[in-house]
Amino acid sequence: MAEKKTKYIFVTGGVVSSLGKGIASASLGLLLKKRGLNVNIIKCDPYINVDPGTMNPFQHGEVFVLDDGSETDLDLGHYERFLSQNMTKDNNVTNGQVYFTVITRERRGDYLGATVQVIPHITEEIKERIRKPAKVNPDTDVIIVEIGGTVGDIESQPFLEAIRQMALENEPEDTLFIHLTLVPFISTAGEVKTKPTQHSVKALREIGIQPRILVCRTAVELAEQIRKKIGLFCNVPSKYVISAIDVENIYEVPLLFHKEGLDDAVCNLMKLDVPEPDMSEWDEMVIRIKNPMGRVKIAICGKYVYLKDAYKSIIESFIHAGAENNVQVDLIWVSSEEIKQNGAEKFLSDIDGLLIPGGFGERGVEGKIESIRYVRENNIPFFGICLGMQCAVIEYARNICGLEDAHSYEFYADLKNPVIHLMADQEGVTNLGGSMRLGAYRAKLDNSSKSFRAYGAEEISERHRHRYEFNNAYRNLFADKPFMLAGLSPDGRLVEIVEVINHPWFVGVQFHPELKSRPVESHPLFRDFIAATVEYNSKKNDKIVTERQLGDTEYEIIKRLQKE
Ligand code: GLN
Repeated sequence: MAEKKTKYIFVTGGVVSSLGKGIASASLGLLLKKRGLNVNIIKCDPYINVDPGTMNPFQHGEVFVLDDGSETDLDLGHYERFLSQNMTKDNNVTNGQVYFTVITRERRGDYLGATVQVIPHITEEIKERIRKPAKVNPDTDVIIVEIGGTVGDIESQPFLEAIRQMALENEPEDTLFIHLTLVPFISTAGEVKTKPTQHSVKALREIGIQPRILVCRTAVELAEQIRKKIGLFCNVPSKYVISAIDVENIYEVPLLFHKEGLDDAVCNLMKLDVPEPDMSEWDEMVIRIKNPMGRVKIAICGKYVYLKDAYKSIIESFIHAGAENNVQVDLIWVSSEEIKQNGAEKFLSDIDGLLIPGGFGERGVEGKIESIRYVRENNIPFFGICLGMQCAVIEYARNICGLEDAHSYEFYADLKNPVIHLMADQEGVTNLGGSMRLGAYRAKLDNSSKSFRAYGAEEISERHRHRYEFNNAYRNLFADKPFMLAGLSPDGRLVEIVEVINHPWFVGVQFHPELKSRPVESHPLFRDFIAATVEYNSKKNDKIVTERQLGDTEYEIIKRLQKE
């Protein structure tokens, strides 16, 4: 049998950044996958960092951690969510990795005295990495390669040169360049402007890349004559000038692209003889998102509340969980520092649930702890993620177990009661890159826990990114309290989930569930958290039977079950 030939689609961006290349690539990937093709996506990041793991979320947004523990660009989150497919370290190529490999080889003497240059050494390494997923899985039909940055950036030039060469080395129908650009609407002139697109395509053509499809981001429908004009100046037939009008939510983008004929255009140009995509499941999900039957208000209390990209996957997870519960989730962003200054009640009195996300560093921690106390005492559903769980443990140790000075070793080294601590084998690790527990780990659930009810399974696998853990020396402190170690590592050594039992829904997890939520399959914990907030919301004005009474009964039942 002839070996399958993998085709490559290169997606570049022009005019401005933040046009949604990641979502465009993921959307095209989904359409091709729904046509029956075996698809993979690579993100090429032109920065010199080896990975975004050490980059400030203020600058770079969330770090998306994969099962294999690699810390990657947040676009990989879009790829996983749209394709319902797990990525690996091979799906994110950075300039830093490329240079690191080439320089390491040079130091080893592998180049036998040759002058090491961008062309061919850097470009060969880039091509090698772009081809790698197809080597790992020879069944791959199409690899979409998203080139980060904007055409014209100095940094991305080696990548553009490498993909230019790949087009030269393959049959014409085996590579395809798609350029995503902006066609701005100038309100004072009352018209759209094509010049920026012309310029960015010109810049691409100067380096030898002729895009075959233009995807034009636009606020208004592009008239036929505009598409013709863009096509004429950019040397692209107007039928391949696709208008990508702004949509309300990102999950509409694949449906819009299909309507505009993007996947048809790709299949024509690449001679892919495949059926129409079946988008019914996706369609249904979008309809549910757009037609909620109610709404709940969730507060997110964190440090980077002014930068939503730092919490990208959490925001998406709430959209998925809302869709599954048929409600709209309104997120209220509360700065933990403001809570510290002005008290929790001022910000949280009318919420239906609180989420404390992951984070690093001491700033704002006291505000988070205070907000957890508030929702615990007021029976408002709570979900703590990573640092959020650690804060919940501290709060409980302080306010219920009476350890007033309980804290995390992350913030103070000379603590008397470090209820959150380094594991013994981590002490002495000082190098920030690569010293964390990263990637997928299995956990076993207590079958009387809310988490078990959510997952419907005794064993789970979730992704981690943290350095500190629940301190086992304090397990006894919590043992006689309505506080459950609901999930442990399979060897029982690490606490992965804690729950407060006499509370309607109080769950803290040491891992990052948001990294595994998918639009067509919400993460079970997000789903049940939202279900609890819906219940809380509907009971808010009818407190004849209080949640605390309900919780107490449940607690008694659970304790009895545990004894049996
Ligand atoms: N800073 C904490 C730790 O390293 C939590 C990390 C996180 O929330 N991702 O353990």
